[in-house]
Amino acid sequence: KARNGHEPEFLQAVQEVAETVIPYIAKHEIYNGKNILLRMVEPERLISFRVSWVDDQGEIHVNRGYRVQMNSAIGPYKGGLRFHPTVNASILKFLAFEQVFKNSLTTLPMGGGKGGSDFDPKGKSDDEIMRFCHAFMAELCRHIGPNTDVPAGDIGVGAREIGFLFGMYKKIRNEFTGVLTGKGLSWGGSKIRPEATGYGTVYFADSMLKSKGDSFEGKTVVVSGSGNVAQFAVEKATQLGGKVVTLSDSGGYIHDADGIDADKLAFVMDLKNNRRGRISEYVAKYPNATFHAGERPWSVACDVALPCATQNELNGEEAKMLLDNGCICVAEGANMPSTPEAMHAFQDAKILFAPGKASNAGGVATSGLEMSQNSLRISWTRQEVDERLKQIMSDIHDSCLEYGKEEDGFCNYVRGANIAGFVKVADAMLAQGVI
Ligand code: NDP
Repeated sequence: KARNGHEPEFLQAVQEVAETVIPYIAKHEIYNGKNILLRMVEPERLISFRVSWVDDQGEIHVNRGYRVQMNSAIGPYKGGLRFHPTVNASILKFLAFEQVFKNSLTTLPMGGGKGGSDFDPKGKSDDEIMRFCHAFMAELCRHIGPNTDVPAGDIGVGAREIGFLFGMYKKIRNEFTGVLTGKGLSWGGSKIRPEATGYGTVYFADSMLKSKGDSFEGKTVVVSGSGNVAQFAVEKATQLGGKVVTLSDSGGYIHDADGIDADKLAFVMDLKNNRRGRISEYVAKYPNATFHAGERPWSVACDVALPCATQNELNGEEAKMLLDNGCICVAEGANMPSTPEAMHAFQDAKILFAPGKASNAGGVATSGLEMSQNSLRISWTRQEVDERLKQIMSDIHDSCLEYGKEEDGFCNYVRGANIAGFVKVADAMLAQGVI
């Protein structure tokens, strides 16, 4: 705490893990006296660099770029890049720390990392985005590589940005390798990667519901966000028989009591991915829906809640509202969207609650599958990748049950995910000695 006191998000993520892992370490002789957690909370490397770029008017801007290489005990660093004005070392360290446990849970050989910039993509032209991405990669390229560190997308970094980043890496290093994931299908991308985080979150929620003899059929579902994760969470939840009634962005949320069906979702995808518009525009197209400016969707009654926007977007009071309105299942599509108060409220009420590091691991798992396909120089079919994704999510669910089941049958998925993720990384660190 003394060393990281100025990094609240990072401390929050570490505290959540420490609460569950420290008692486990205390009970297991092999981890005693090795200061494993102390080593895990210090990034192996944190790179910060200047990104200078020129806008369409010829003005020069300077942003700060980062890469946090957190832990490489079980594989090359792996984790997304985030472009958002709130990006700082604390946020990227929290994301990189979570990523270590998440990647371990996928069963694939990937260490943990995260990076990005305080660059704000909103309102920028395609050319400006390209110039920024090229400038960012001109520095980042010397720190990454297919066997060293393999970045991917996150908030503000989607298919367009990955294309620009990959192009500059290839130009400078003069090599065509799987150095980034989330690539386009014609140049090394994997089928189902765009869908994977949203689909995986719903597969995980479905596994939780099934463990109680229940399913998505007929369930009312509240989703926050309207980006990559949210869009595909809506698609899969609807396919499994749920009715999704909300979406949001930083301007507010829309409530469509009739449900956001496939046609309406296609409108949202075009609005957000091609026209880069605001979710408020939904109600002009579908007047039965309502827009709630500056608000979050948690007061809307639902059975299942899927927070898919950003960290700390669901607080203790909002968790209470969800519980009072009958919510029985929360699966995090975003990273750490629930505050500690919200998480404890869900756990005290003993509802099904999945932390992001378990439920949103489908994205990075499919990135891992993209890396395998790149190494093998083959491309699996959509069905093949989807089957593997389903299997991985089901295996993660089983790992959470193994370490999280309590005597009364309740599963503490937070503890389950943290311990299952910890054990694999800790064992590798012990084997590799003090380095
Ligand atoms: P996108 O950039 O595609 O979408 C982000 C969405 O969240 C947008 O609707 C955005 O609204 C909203 N949002 C972002 N910041 C805020 C904020 N401060 N307040 C309110 N709304 C906000 O990102 P993704 O869908 O990729 O990522 C969403 C979450 O999922 C993040 O937590 C990310 O770390 C996590 N995640 C993503 C993975 C992936 O594969 N993409 C993998 C695992 C986790 P607006 O446009 O107004 O900013």
